[in-house]
Amino acid sequence: NAKQAGKNRYCLFDTQQHNAVKVQLESIEDIVLALEKREFVLFYQPKVNMQTGEVIGVEALIRWQHPVRGLIPPLDFLPVIEGKAISLELGERVIENALTQISQWQSAGLNLPISVNISAYQLQQDNFATRLAALLSAHPEVNPYCLELEILETSALNDINKVFATMSACNMLGVRFALDDFGTGYSSLTYLRRLPAQLIKIDQSFVRDMLEDAEDCAIVEGIIGLAKSFRRDVIAEGVETMHHGRELLQMGCELAQGYGIARPMPAGDIHEWVSNWKADDYWQA
Ligand code: C2E
Ligand code: MG
Ligand code: MG
Ligand code: MG
Repeated sequence: NAKQAGKNRYCLFDTQQHNAVKVQLESIEDIVLALEKREFVLFYQPKVNMQTGEVIGVEALIRWQHPVRGLIPPLDFLPVIEGKAISLELGERVIENALTQISQWQSAGLNLPISVNISAYQLQQDNFATRLAALLSAHPEVNPYCLELEILETSALNDINKVFATMSACNMLGVRFALDDFGTGYSSLTYLRRLPAQLIKIDQSFVRDMLEDAEDCAIVEGIIGLAKSFRRDVIAEGVETMHHGRELLQMGCELAQGYGIARPMPAGDIHEWVSNWKADDYWQA
């Protein structure tokens, strides 16, 4: 239980079963220390165009490289700091690291855009666009078009006018936006229409079941249609098999990301993965 797990450990309870749920959240104090000790690392998951075979970029996904416990997934510690100052520091560090990574790959002859997840709280800071501009100007060698920011569909809802203004200001810097986990929030089509997000990411829950579940399939089809009508790019997340990929391609969704293509991997493995992928004719097989 929470007490045995040590002080400062959060423990969630499943009210139905009166059992401690396995998920154990970390403590803020430990997270602050980990940030100081630079224990957070970014893994990268490739995104491909199934039609052309091109690798279109990678998504940066944070992990806590704990010296004793190994890799800790983001959902075990991000919720603990959401809405707190430390999350802004961490968020900024992530963008900074991504820009450095783009620059390093660029020097090695690899042009690979990176998408970074940002929280609603981060995006709603008054100085978000200004801070982003400062980070970008520290990397004049990086084309801002190589940086994409992913926000949850739901995060746009709190203060639509402010979010709209911030996103537009970032767009002016050359940075693009993606709406993550699309289909799981409640955003009205009017919001979607107003938001300057250039890419829509179909949530993996619909993709996972689309081959068996007619309704999930209809949702996937609907989102693809919506994206086309609104002239946004669309990518499917959670593409776990070639079968899913082929079906999506037939439905008109060319971009994909998922375990069936590649799992998130350390930065050092990306170059080799990209070289091997180029030689591949995976989706045509
Ligand atoms: P997300 O942005 O929707 O990222 C996709 C998640 O699905 C990642 O989990 C990824 O590893 C996983 N995934 C990818 N392909 C597949 C697949 O084919 N099947 C299945 N079952 N899963 C797949 P991860 O890395 O645990 O990240 C979870 C969430 O944590 C992310 O969801 C994102 O919302 C958040 N996150 C990750 N890194 C950051 C960050 O640096 N900042 C912020 N604010 N949030 C982050
Ligand atoms: Mg994401
Ligand atoms: Mg997602
Ligand atoms: Mg998600």
